[in-house]
This record gives sequence, C-alpha cells and structure tokens, in this order.
Amino acid sequence: MNSSIIGRKLPTSGMLVLLAAITLAGCSAGPAKPVSQTELLLGTTITITVYDRVDRSVLDKAFARVRDIHNRMTTEGTESEVDKINQQAGIAPVPVTPDVFEVIKTALDFSRLTDGAFDITVGPIVKLWGIGTDHEQLPPPEKIKALLPLVNWKWVRLNQADHSVYLEKKGMGIDLGGIAKGYAADEAKRILAENGVKHAILDFGGNILVMGTKPDGSNWRIGIQTPFKTRGSYLGIVTTADKSVVTSGPYERYFIKNGTMYHHIINPKTGYPVQRHLTSTTIYSGVSMICDGLSTSIFVMGLQDGSALIRELKGVDAIFVTDENKVYYTKGLDGIFEVTNSDYTRGELPSGPSPDYHAPAPSVIDTIEALDKVSP
Ligand code: ADP
Ligand code: MG
Repeated sequence: MNSSIIGRKLPTSGMLVLLAAITLAGCSAGPAKPVSQTELLLGTTITITVYDRVDRSVLDKAFARVRDIHNRMTTEGTESEVDKINQQAGIAPVPVTPDVFEVIKTALDFSRLTDGAFDITVGPIVKLWGIGTDHEQLPPPEKIKALLPLVNWKWVRLNQADHSVYLEKKGMGIDLGGIAKGYAADEAKRILAENGVKHAILDFGGNILVMGTKPDGSNWRIGIQTPFKTRGSYLGIVTTADKSVVTSGPYERYFIKNGTMYHHIINPKTGYPVQRHLTSTTIYSGVSMICDGLSTSIFVMGLQDGSALIRELKGVDAIFVTDENKVYYTKGLDGIFEVTNSDYTRGELPSGPSPDYHAPAPSVIDTIEALDKVSP
C-alpha cells in the first residue's frame, strides 16, 4: 500500500448490525436453540442464524445457493460469468444463467429509476481505484478521464431470447458489488423458507434480512451502525419483522490521502467517490435486492434527491445520516425506527428535489414496486 495512505479500515458494518441484532434479539430466545453458520462470500462475512427446530442441513443448502451466486458474479478472479461478460465487451454477447441475467436486468432498472446514479458499468473505474484491495490508489486524473467514456448503463444489451449479455464498447466492464449481496440474501431466504424456516436473521455484511418475527412473536431489533465507529455501536434501532435493512456508507471501504477521504461508492458521472456530507444511507423494504441497490443509489443521489425518489416508491423507506450527526428518515419509518444515540438528532427532510432531479417514469416505478410483490 502507498505509504502516504494513512487511513485505517474499520470492521465492516455487517458484523456490527448482526451482533446488535443478536444481542437485542437474544434476550428472549424462543424454545428452539438458534443455529448459526458463517462464511466469507461476496467479499464479506455472511452469517445466517435460524431460530426454528429444523435440520442443520438447511444452512448448508442456503449457503450452497449463496456460493453459486458468488461464483457467478464475483470479479475477484477471472472465471465468473461476470468476468466472461467483461472479457467479451465489444466482441460478443455472452449467454448467462438466469441469476446473472435477472440481477443485471434489475440493476438496469435501478439505473433507469435513479437517472444513472446507480450504474454497474462503473466496473473499470472501481478496478482503477482498487479501494479495499492491496493496490488501492488515488489515480491520476487523466486515467479517470480515459475510462469515464466507458461508463454508461445504456450500453448494456440484454437479449431475453438467449439470456445473453453484451457490453457494446471494448474495455467496458460491469461490477455487481452494489446489488449482488441483496439478491443473494433474498435467495437464501427463499431456500430457508422452502425448508420450513420461519424465524431467521440473515446478515450479509451490512445487508440484514429478518425472516418472520423473533420466535416469541415479538419484532426483531436491528441496530443501524454509527458511521466510523467500531462494531457494537449503533445510532438507532429498527424494530420490525419480515423485512430487509441495508446500509451503505463510505466507512466500509476507504482510504485517506492529503486529508481527503476516498471510498468505494463512485459517482458514475465523475469517476470519483461521491463527495457529500452523508456518512451513511439505509433502505428499509421487503426485498433485500431493492434495499441493496437503492441504498447505494441514494448515497450517490444525496439527501435531497434521494429522499425525493424514495418518497415516490411504495413500501420503500430510507434513513440518511450526515457528517453533522443529523438523521433524516422517511415517513414509513415513524414508529419503526428510533434514534437511540444522543450524539445524533433528527432533522427534517427537504420538502422537494433539487432543480436537477429527473423524476423517474411511472412505468419504472411500477417495475421496481413489482419486485416487492413477487418477493418470496
Ligand atoms: P457494500 O458492498 O460495502 O455493501 P454498496 O452496496 O454500497 O456497499 O456497494 C458498493 C459497491 O458497489 C462498490 O464496492 C462497487 O463495487 C459498486 N459501486 C460503486 N459505485 C457504484 C454505483 N454508482 N452504482 C453501482 N454500483 C456501484
Ligand atoms: Mg448496495
């Protein structure tokens, strides 16, 4: 690592939220003894805890599914389906499994919804920065300038007939890091449900999904991490059942150089990490993939336009935390989310979007809301 890079990474938020959830949930564990399994997949620590009297093998089945998804979508090696799509950019369409096809399709819906704030074609830029890897760097501006013309979600061509994906320009690349964990959590949940699980916590490193209620019938309590604080510290609690809660934030992967923090959420229009006054964004909905994609999206969009977008989506709510320790959240979280850390105070959401805001077409909103309805 470059010696002028002085930032030190903190543990990722997922563990923290899990511990908070378990600590808080654990006080009233039901009759069955919880069983839990942890694996490193999708670039994070994944823990699934089941509170029903079921065979332990259900955990293996859920993890086998997650491992499949990891193997198809990772860009850590060179062999995944996503790697193949990227290697064939500008050359030929690549037929892929329904997993990869559907996730890319949804990612493009998020791009449409957010006017390109969410854009999986940031791949080459993400690779250039290398944030969170052993070769992270502040790239020379001309290198960013050279890659930026390759970032455009409109150049991802999907062919439903043969389930193929084609990137239209040579050098393009997609990165599913902003959406894959959510999809994997939804799929793990489906497998668990099919195998008789009714009460569980799925922690996919900052992506939390709870199944049912706690075994005693009360709601789960999910801690929202205090940004830049070590695990175990949370600023507020979401009390709920059968929902997903996903937080995105710069504190998960970043470095500091010359007093500026560079992190892993990229503004696709500039090629630089998003520089705003936000320290985290959280989405609350029934579908983890929606939570994952949109928490990254609203981090890019910022408080004003991000909250304007979330207000348009039924069944989706958001929490924004700023570097002045203000916490903003949308109406659906009233009575569900509570700020518990006295260093933080609630702020009032802006009443409308900025003049630059591009409202999504009603058909795009319908598409996203439909995802919620087909959730397992
Ligand atoms: P985490 O992976 O830490 O949970 P996020 O869900 O917020 O965080 O996703 C960040 C990841 O998404 C980055 O590491 C990168 O792979 C990818 N990414 C970065 N910027 C964007 C963007 N504007 N749109 C889509 N994906 C992005
Ligand atoms: Mg995300």
